[in-house]
Amino acid sequence: MTMRLATYSAGGAPCVGVVLEDGAVLDGAAALRASGGDPAPLGDMIAAIEAWDRVGPVLVKAAASPPVGAVVAKERVRLLAPIPRPRKNVFCVGRNYLDHVAEGDRAAGRETTVPEHAQFFTKPANVVIGPGEWIPNHARVTKALDYEVELVVVIGKGGADIPRERAFEHVFGYTIGNDITGRDLQRRHGQWFKGKGLDRSCPMGPWIVPRGDLPEPPDLRISLTVNGEQRQDSRTSRMIFDIPAILAVLSAGLTLEPGDVIMTGTPEGVGYAMTPPRLLQPGDRIAAAIEGIGVLENEVR
Ligand code: MN
Repeated sequence: MTMRLATYSAGGAPCVGVVLEDGAVLDGAAALRASGGDPAPLGDMIAAIEAWDRVGPVLVKAAASPPVGAVVAKERVRLLAPIPRPRKNVFCVGRNYLDHVAEGDRAAGRETTVPEHAQFFTKPANVVIGPGEWIPNHARVTKALDYEVELVVVIGKGGADIPRERAFEHVFGYTIGNDITGRDLQRRHGQWFKGKGLDRSCPMGPWIVPRGDLPEPPDLRISLTVNGEQRQDSRTSRMIFDIPAILAVLSAGLTLEPGDVIMTGTPEGVGYAMTPPRLLQPGDRIAAAIEGIGVLENEVR
């Protein structure tokens, strides 16, 4: 079974565990204690990633056959973002699916050209929220709130100047992100940071799937619905700049660290490019799905 590595709360402080098939969660620290190991890294996802060579095999084994008392019932668990507070801003790639570039250019009345270089921006580290958490509609600051489903790469082994051929060795795993954007702010302020940086505008989760549990390179269906209506539906293999290209260029002269998160761009079907535009409203339920990973659900309020 696919490993679903999650950060969760069972009423207290965040814990790291494995979501089992029935939705119950294997408490990672309890599993490590039961195997005689030091449970310290299982208090925090970044620490768990850094200690993965040691704790990973224990968790895989314990998930298949949980030690007594190490399973938390589904009803007691609230899943949080897998990395609730990244160490630095969330890296993002803009305009990385051709049909999304084209719909944006169409909406702006421009000719479409294929980007020659990847476009990078970031979202603040403190705007990450988890599955099931609500997204504010920010009515006082934006009139054009929009969604973007994205495959998120979680860095395992850090490094700078990562060559394309070695890129996947630096990937710990994958999760789902929703790059919530104030389109009017994105346009008005030149740089995208303002429109991409609103509070609670980076839903992520519901868990991380380690890279060995997904095809490489990942060729996965990526889709999004609003209130059950299909808006986005593509495949991650249709990125203009693939994961090795993204990691090679981003890490050129910049050290990536364990737990860094990179959102790899969204396919076509965003709300502002529809005719007429269909932007997010309070009460909208967004479900962002990636094959082999899961579904990330959030409601706008
Ligand atoms: Mn995006």
